[in-house]
Amino acid sequence: MDTLHENLVTTDEVPFLSGGGAAVYALRLDKLHPVISGNKWYKLRYHIEEARRQGKRRIVTFGGAYSNHIVATAAACKLYGFKSTGIIRGEMGIEPSQTLSEAVRYGMELCFLSRSDYKLKNIPAALYDNDCDYFIPEGGYSVLGMQGAATIPYDKGAFDMICCAVGTGTMLAGLLHGKLPGTKVLGISVLKNHHGLADEVRKLVGQGHDVQIDHRFHFGGYAKRTEALTGFMNKLYAQSGIPTDFVYTAKLFYAVRQLGQEGFFRDARKILVVHSGGLQGNRSLPPGTLIF
Ligand SMILES: *Cc1c(COP(=O)(O)O)cnc(C)c1O
Repeated sequence: MDTLHENLVTTDEVPFLSGGGAAVYALRLDKLHPVISGNKWYKLRYHIEEARRQGKRRIVTFGGAYSNHIVATAAACKLYGFKSTGIIRGEMGIEPSQTLSEAVRYGMELCFLSRSDYKLKNIPAALYDNDCDYFIPEGGYSVLGMQGAATIPYDKGAFDMICCAVGTGTMLAGLLHGKLPGTKVLGISVLKNHHGLADEVRKLVGQGHDVQIDHRFHFGGYAKRTEALTGFMNKLYAQSGIPTDFVYTAKLFYAVRQLGQEGFFRDARKILVVHSGGLQGNRSLPPGTLIF
């Protein structure tokens, strides 16, 4: 099992995305680790520390069958010597997703809950061992997750605006928490009409932050895609060598290109786009969809 490679994270200029006068750079968190890639490691790091401090032996968390958070937690637990259990929304499919198979390869035990039990957090009593279990909320949405995301490393003084993809909003909250006062942060929601997001971000980071979220770039909803999106992914890769995932980062990069063309970045000189990883999710696409 390889370790985390923070030294491999680079900040690459992406001329293909530069528009309206601003220069766009990509923060390549996808290079951190093949599985614990991108923001997931930062959201997990203080939970891992806390679990260790409390002397816990197992980490339990929640997610769907294609969850980057589930597989990243499995890999991080293996790396740091914890047992792990994933509580998975929905019945086990006839063939488990590649994401779940990989989580199992990292030693994660899976527990499938019906959608209604999952919603009600009806966790089987057998899974509750307060002495040895440490629970991480779904998607890592938590103050510790936010504080970890605030340690995402980049050159703080160099950028007028930071753009990131938004699922639970934990990373966006962390970027707001960690930035310098003059820097703006823009989130691109990958969910359809999830207008409660800004409040969920404020719940983590506190009031008094300018929480900007653009809701136009969901491409049909969470994990939905169109040919325009996969076409864009191939074009971005051909032009700049940057691979993206169709659930999060492709929607982010697409949004940044369009916003540049719309003149949104008029007043900015340098924009940082956080490539938050997630490339493992592309394995659920039909073969031949992508050129990378
Ligand atoms: C999970 C994930 C996100 C969303 O992060 P949140 O903190 O839940 O908003 C963004 N990008 C990638 C690649 C992810 O895996």
